[in-house]
Amino acid sequence: MPSLDMEGPYPLRPEAISACITVKAPGNFAIGHLVNNRFTVLYVGRGESNLPKAVQDMVGRHKDFRLFKFSYAVSAAAAFQKHCRHYHEFSRGGKLLNKRHPESKIGLVCPYCE
Ligand SMILES: [Zn+2]
Repeated sequence: MPSLDMEGPYPLRPEAISACITVKAPGNFAIGHLVNNRFTVLYVGRGESNLPKAVQDMVGRHKDFRLFKFSYAVSAAAAFQKHCRHYHEFSRGGKLLNKRHPESKIGLVCPYCE
């Protein structure tokens, strides 16, 4: 079972995001909804420097985007690597709505691609 290593889930609403993610830092998030009372991941993302803004940008993007989980990262590079891990682990189930593999703006290579 893939693991997110994140806090939550919390409602994907602007006030809840502001209350939960209080530091403008790099980090990761997962968006999803409950299926049979289990948090099911639909989208994984990251913020390179401003995690709360990255999550706010997801509000209202899809009718099933109801809940989010998040974690802070020590650096943009760490956030990229965790984003890649999530992408690979959760795309196996076929439910992920991410259309493309995460891309690095600073030339990092995914450690999970073969
Ligand atoms: Zn990869």
